[in-house]
Amino acid sequence: MKNIIFVTMLLFVPLLSKADLNIFACEPEWAALAQELGGDNVKASSATNALQDPHYIQARPSLISRVGRADLIVCSGAQLEIGWLPMLLRKGNNPEVMPGGPGFIEASRYVKRLDVLLSSDRSQGDVHPLGNPHIQTNPHNILLVAKVMADRMAQLDADNAQIYQQGLVDFSQRWMNAITGWEERATSLRGKRVIAHHLSWIYLENWLGLEEVATLEPIAGIPPTAGHLGSLLNRFGNHEGADFIIRAPFQSAKPSKWLSERTGIPAVLLPLTVGGTEQASDLFKWFDDILDRLLNAEDS
Ligand SMILES: [Zn+2]
Repeated sequence: MKNIIFVTMLLFVPLLSKADLNIFACEPEWAALAQELGGDNVKASSATNALQDPHYIQARPSLISRVGRADLIVCSGAQLEIGWLPMLLRKGNNPEVMPGGPGFIEASRYVKRLDVLLSSDRSQGDVHPLGNPHIQTNPHNILLVAKVMADRMAQLDADNAQIYQQGLVDFSQRWMNAITGWEERATSLRGKRVIAHHLSWIYLENWLGLEEVATLEPIAGIPPTAGHLGSLLNRFGNHEGADFIIRAPFQSAKPSKWLSERTGIPAVLLPLTVGGTEQASDLFKWFDDILDRLLNAEDS
């Protein structure tokens, strides 16, 4: 019986999966957003998962072939993926998804980028010379990108344009309601001071009125050193001057733990994207979980 069901399922797969748009996202939040907007009409997947550092992944052959099949690529950009995306695009050999064309969205172009430097030198570390690319931690940015994405999906798959525009209307409504709830919950966080592992959270901080007072990395992109942690201990040793030490799941827990144990400042793991924690299972639950974790740490 099991076999019959299995074979029957196989036969119907092509009929059931009527996905018209194949979307390749560089980061999980954009794949999740594409799926929210397009539902069954899109097949969205992400090059990186939430437990990987999006700055550094291998340009594997499977990723190259996915780029080759994609109708639309969505990436944060601002050089976040500079170490691997150019090679994927080159080897994927798909003219439909080249930057500058309708098949490519650089999400960070459509938000107000923070920390844009006037000049930079990559020998100074991964300083994000075009501005900080970790735009996804402000939900208002997600909405700005959603509008661009829905327009582009409608353009590329005109037969279903109405579905994408309706998807945007539905999502916008639910998302704006959720933002109102998050902002109400987060009022007590305003003014709290953050030591971040990497500059991954400045859009979240900007949104919630948190203040970043230091990073565990001595220079952006350079792992924490004993010398730098020692200087942070001197600076924050009396538990004054900072309220949270924040890291993403793919960043080593050791530096946070080391400093937290010696200063009493709570170390908090936050999901940097959908799937970063068990609780952050979709876009909405991801921000719910960020707030849960910050508010819990505040109470502890
Ligand atoms: Zn970064």
